[in-house]
Amino acid sequence: MAKANLCYSIDAQNRITEVSGLLGKPFQEFIQDDATRMLMNSIVNSVRVLGKNRQVDYRCDSSTEKRYMRMSVSIEGDHSIKLCHELLRSEPLSPPFVTQTVGNDQTHYQRCSQCNRIELNQVWLEPDSSLLRAIPQPCPVYHSICPLCAERLA
Ligand SMILES: [Zn+2]
Repeated sequence: MAKANLCYSIDAQNRITEVSGLLGKPFQEFIQDDATRMLMNSIVNSVRVLGKNRQVDYRCDSSTEKRYMRMSVSIEGDHSIKLCHELLRSEPLSPPFVTQTVGNDQTHYQRCSQCNRIELNQVWLEPDSSLLRAIPQPCPVYHSICPLCAERLA
């Protein structure tokens, strides 16, 4: 199993109880967009309600690398939940695709926070798609959840 890169625990009120510097803050505070925050809440709640650990694969690309990540959500007892993020593998993103996260009120393209695809004319494209070459970089993005990931993670 790959080495965990980041782990933190949240208590019954979703407050971070482990990881220095983040203690006592609601974990949702660190998620900028509403769609991803709602998704995370729903994943954590489903683990609590069903009492079953869950793994969610997602992408966390840099401008030059496709990074395949896994989030493991596990029950720690006493309504606490542990979340671990690990890098499964990475591969070059060629050509590079530079994005810049902007506010929802600014002109932007939607980027799925789970698969990192970008929406162009209602089609969700991989960041190395030739169809995205015409977009000037850094490409202004606002994160959301694409329909495929919404269905996959429901
Ligand atoms: Zn997606």
